[in-house]
Parts: sequence; C-alpha cells; structure tokens
Amino acid sequence: MTARGEDRAADQVAAKLREQVQRLFGRSLHIRTIDTGSCAVCESEIRLLAAPHYDLHRLGLFFTPSPRHADLLLVTGPAIRAFDNALEKTYLAMPEPKLVVAVGACPLGGVYHEDAFVHGTLERVLPVDVFIPGCPPSPLALLQGLLLAVGRLAEKVGEISFAEGEVCGR
Ligand code: SF4
Repeated sequence: MTARGEDRAADQVAAKLREQVQRLFGRSLHIRTIDTGSCAVCESEIRLLAAPHYDLHRLGLFFTPSPRHADLLLVTGPAIRAFDNALEKTYLAMPEPKLVVAVGACPLGGVYHEDAFVHGTLERVLPVDVFIPGCPPSPLALLQGLLLAVGRLAEKVGEISFAEGEVCGR
C-alpha cells in the first residue's frame, strides 16, 4: 500500500474508532501500556499514535499511568516469566469490563519460544482479547486492532448488563 493509501485507510479506521468510542462509551477509553522487555520498536509505533499525525486523543483514546483508570491493557514484549506478578497485579487492579491487547510478534511467541524464562505466548498469563501481529505492527494495524478491541469491550459491556438484568429480574 502506498503512503497516501495507508493514510486514507488510517483515516477511515480512525473515524470508525472515534464513532465507536463515542457511541459505546460516551466519552473516552483509557489505555495502560506495559512493556515486558520489547526491543522498543513496538513501543515507538504505539507512541506514534499519540503524535500529531494520528492524534489518538482526538478519537477519545488516552494513555493512563494507572491501571485503576484503564479500560484496556496494551502489552508489548515477550511473555517473560519474571513479569507474571506485575501483569497479574495490573490486570486485577483494572475495573470491569476490561480488555487485554497484545502487540507484535513477541507476545504471540513468535520471537522467543517457551523456555525456562519465557512462556511463549502471553495467553498463558492473561486472557488476551486481541493479538495485533507484526514485527512491529504498523500504526494502521494498531488502529485496526484497537477498533477490534473496542468491539470486544462492547460485547463485554453487553454481557455484564445482560447478567445484571437477569439478577435484577428485568
Ligand atoms: S514484535 Fe518485533 S518490533 Fe515488537 S518488540 Fe518484538 S522484536 Fe521488537
């Protein structure tokens, strides 16, 4: 795809993402990132999303340092066993409904295979909702993965409302 074609595709995905975030969440969606030991290139692609060219904030998506304010956990790097505790504590601190998105080939087990130090895939530690493949994934792939994740979160919100309705007899 040419650079211009990629820009057009990114604009279309961004417009859908903004519409979905506003329709489903009314205001904004907050993202906590964890780097378990990436080579920093996936992180750099994520940072590009917040830069003026993609301007993730205009879509209603923000990065937060606190897991207690996060709707979505974005993980880069291999599933290193030494990170189990930090990942589990972060996930448990996030309010429901919550999502986990794994970025790049590393958390898929595509760069470091299972051994004494690495799980292989992040799914062994956390319930991953969306994997965004690539080494690194492009900003367009990241936007598409976030759009998919927002759809999954909408399903979870629906499930929770439905379950509460049943309990309340509505
Ligand atoms: S997936 Fe590739 S670019 Fe991303 S952290 Fe791993 S090695 Fe680096």
